[in-house]
Amino acid sequence: MIVAAIDISSTSLGVSLSGVRFAYRRGFALFVPSLEVQPGEQILLAGASGSGKSTLLHLIAGIEDPSHGEIRIAGTNFLALRGAKRDTFRGRHIGMIFQTFNLLQGFSALENVMLALMLGGFDSSDQRSRAESTLTRLGIEDSHAPVENLSVGQQQRVAVARAVAGNPCVVLADEPTASLDPANARKAIELIKDAARTAGAALIVTSHDPSLIGAFDRVLDIGPLIATERAR
Ligand code: ADP
Ligand code: MG
Repeated sequence: MIVAAIDISSTSLGVSLSGVRFAYRRGFALFVPSLEVQPGEQILLAGASGSGKSTLLHLIAGIEDPSHGEIRIAGTNFLALRGAKRDTFRGRHIGMIFQTFNLLQGFSALENVMLALMLGGFDSSDQRSRAESTLTRLGIEDSHAPVENLSVGQQQRVAVARAVAGNPCVVLADEPTASLDPANARKAIELIKDAARTAGAALIVTSHDPSLIGAFDRVLDIGPLIATERAR
């Protein structure tokens, strides 16, 4: 069994993990003694493919549950929330950007962003104005066209808008540049960083691309920390 051990200490209330253990049913396991991400901090979670980056993001997002440990988002013990409460908390406090965007096809940019705000429990009156202003800020002019009619670059902007429109505590971006050439990768990273900063969110970006290292406040390299151990 592989164990990725990460031990980073600072003084944050943004995102905080302590003593987090997780294992897939057979195989990979991850142990995070301590990880703190400051409000507004921007970090790169770097490491080779298969090193556990996506798994760690899924734990922070409450998509996977650790067997031990505590995860706090904006001071709340997120894992104590169950079902719809956890979904609403996630929608309100965590923005997610996926490599393939995961936009709802057949719906407009505006509808995609408004739906995310609805899931985060924002008032219906608030949903439209927040969605419109965020899309405008991110340069989406035709927010009423179905998302599949937009260019790939525009779709990524919609995905970023959806992640930041609710001013979350943290934005998680999983390999957002993996399918882009170097020039577009740099632009996409700057777009995501600016959007997270404007939203007042901490940012955790995963990538296996070492050329992104210079763009971040802090690099958490998961690879060299991997140790091989028997599961307990
Ligand atoms: P990365 O994002 O760094 O490429 P992942 O977190 O996706 O790494 O995967 C880490 C390890 O966990 C890999 O060995 C992968 O095969 C394994 N893994 C990922 N998802 C699952 C799953 N749902 N069930 C079992 N093993 C998984
Ligand atoms: Mg991954």
